[in-house]
Amino acid sequence: MPASGTLGGGSRQLLKRLRDVMAGQAAGQERLDRIVRVIAQGLVAEVCSCYLVRGGMLELFATEGLKPEAVHQTRLAMGEGLVGDIALHARPLALADAQSHPNFAYRPETGEEIFHSLMGAPILRGGRVLGVLVVQNRTKRHYAEDEVETLETIAMVVAELVSAELVSEEEAIAAEQGEPMPARLEGIPVHDGIAIGTTVFHRPEIEIRRVVAEDPAAELRRLEAAVGGLRSQLDGLFAAAELARAGEHEGILEAYRMFAEDRGWNQRLKDAIGSGLTAEAAVQKVQNDMRARLAQVVDPYLRERLMDLDDLHHRLIQHLTGEVGKRVLPDDAILVARSMGPAELLDYDRGKLKALVLEEGSATAHVAIIARALDLPAVARVPELRDQASAGDRLVVDGTNGVVYVRPGDDVIDTISGLVAATRAAEVRHAELRDLPAESRDGVRVSLSLNAGLLADLTQLDRTGADGVGLFRTEIGFMVRPRYPSVAEQAQVYGQALAIAGERPVVFRTLDAGGDKRLPYLPYDEDENPAMGWRSIRMTLDRPALLRQQLRALLTAAAGRPLSLMFPMVAEVAELVDAKQVLELELERFRRSGGPTPKTLRVGAMVEVPALLHQLPALLPRVDFLSVGSNDLLQFLFAADRGSQRLAGRYDALSPPVLSAMAGLVREAAAGGVPMTVCGEMAGRPIEAMTLIGLGFSSLSMSAAALPAVKAMIRSLDVGSLASYLERLISAPDRSVREKLRAFAADHGFAI
Ligand code: PEP
Ligand code: MG
Repeated sequence: MPASGTLGGGSRQLLKRLRDVMAGQAAGQERLDRIVRVIAQGLVAEVCSCYLVRGGMLELFATEGLKPEAVHQTRLAMGEGLVGDIALHARPLALADAQSHPNFAYRPETGEEIFHSLMGAPILRGGRVLGVLVVQNRTKRHYAEDEVETLETIAMVVAELVSAELVSEEEAIAAEQGEPMPARLEGIPVHDGIAIGTTVFHRPEIEIRRVVAEDPAAELRRLEAAVGGLRSQLDGLFAAAELARAGEHEGILEAYRMFAEDRGWNQRLKDAIGSGLTAEAAVQKVQNDMRARLAQVVDPYLRERLMDLDDLHHRLIQHLTGEVGKRVLPDDAILVARSMGPAELLDYDRGKLKALVLEEGSATAHVAIIARALDLPAVARVPELRDQASAGDRLVVDGTNGVVYVRPGDDVIDTISGLVAATRAAEVRHAELRDLPAESRDGVRVSLSLNAGLLADLTQLDRTGADGVGLFRTEIGFMVRPRYPSVAEQAQVYGQALAIAGERPVVFRTLDAGGDKRLPYLPYDEDENPAMGWRSIRMTLDRPALLRQQLRALLTAAAGRPLSLMFPMVAEVAELVDAKQVLELELERFRRSGGPTPKTLRVGAMVEVPALLHQLPALLPRVDFLSVGSNDLLQFLFAADRGSQRLAGRYDALSPPVLSAMAGLVREAAAGGVPMTVCGEMAGRPIEAMTLIGLGFSSLSMSAAALPAVKAMIRSLDVGSLASYLERLISAPDRSVREKLRAFAADHGFAI
């Protein structure tokens, strides 16, 4: 009886036969032997073999058609041979001529040389590969797509048996072999901070008890009800979320809704039910397929979207199995997830969460943006964590350095506890500083502002006592949306930002997209050097409609209030002139329509391309202020990629060329009467901020987390003596003057 495809009765009958075998009294191994026989027969294959992962290798556990002596003898590494390939990539293969495939590995003990065609599917549970199910034929058989689907479905049924009886025992034995050791795992830092707490897995595996459907029509009805439940859950979630009022997270929710209403997705679920699966097993099958696709995808945006979809699948399974609702968390929960949708993080009680660790993900993932907005220490890309840690284990998360300690020893805990206590004490001290002026011992007053990208960042204004927002990176709001935001949507966000800031000024930077800040919905031709490519003002001047829309939104939002805006990545004065012309067009439009214009309008430029340093006489009369983007300025000054790990630390911001460039800039801007701020990372590091102040800068903008320490440093400073010392350092031959400055600060009691 040939399998007749996903929707066919043949596939359903085969599943029923398998279920009967599964429900029988026989022991695990015997049942597996019967299962491979049933599958071989059902799929009209001469061979059906089941390989399972044991001790990191793929071991032949059962076969119909290969030599029985090979069972428990043939072992393949992950990635070895075609079976290893299927396991490694967690995706099926169907080959009419398997032996000509470059990965074919011949195992003489199996006697498989006479079989030419091969079709295999991974046996998956919770995204993990438990093994591989393979059928083989003597002829060069072309397996149809629906036959591959059928095999994948069968693999799900087999996964049940594996999890219940075969390898779990092995795992139990392995677990008894001594105390688990501590481990130190490295990932990438997502959000600063240190936390000690208890491991909580974001998605403890939901056990699917029924895989094969009795009544497909009833399963379809269950699916429909669950999809409806899921939609209302998503609606409620965001309506209730504290951050929803910030408006900008709507974009994320929209991406979810898009999937939930996607007909292709719904159809795939229905097809899987049609092939004989229960609704929850159907969701799991579609989820497995997606995960296999995910592994192939390199485009970071698409990966993020597929991860969002993974989240939806999990939610749907929860609806189907009745496991919806909040979990009970320990008070010091450290959440561990393979990947995570942003909505899921919002689901947790923030009061109990201490940190987040992702096995996958990136610093730009939606969930990372939310983690930052919630001020949750976070580390991403720690792939081995789930293998190393168990629920309830003690974890230390160092979000600043991107390190996770699993079951750390007392010495690590002591050190970290000391650090956590010191950080807390510093926070208390810093809170006391909140209302004190950022003024040096010799009476130099420095303005301290915040860098922001999300509205949630603006809530830090009150907490830190900052003077305003020195850099509002508008592109972040564009990056978290699934499509280009309309003028009204942009205006709403900018208006809210101004409302939260109240009397405090906000400097909006126009769209600085491109380079490493790609907008997923804008097509790009990849430049060879994206940081020096078509980005930022280059892009918005080439697409003036985008710039006009953004300026219109800013003018609309500011109506009757002061507005400060600046243009990023200006390389030549002519670009600024062009941009100001676009602004003039929009202003004219406002005047004509009689709409309220801003109370005052200040226009500035970012100084982050070295060419601008050589055009100051032409630039200064055309701007109301300047803002130094030291991150880009330094990468272009040294021709050293700011994101390169290998170059990090090679050139120092505290070096004669940088001091000289900054000193010249301060001198000329002061002579031209143009106020200037530094808004790159330099401004937020105490010793670097100290140096900038010594060079004559009196306005700095930085992240909220950095501000208290910078203020404390300023209050300990004697600017006069520092300035004279710096004059000498500018012409020093040293690669770096950091140590000299550190020593000077120590000698003079400056709190760096
Ligand atoms: C900079 O380049 O210093 C800057 C502040 O801009 P961004 O980091 O957003 O490029
Ligand atoms: Mg920049």
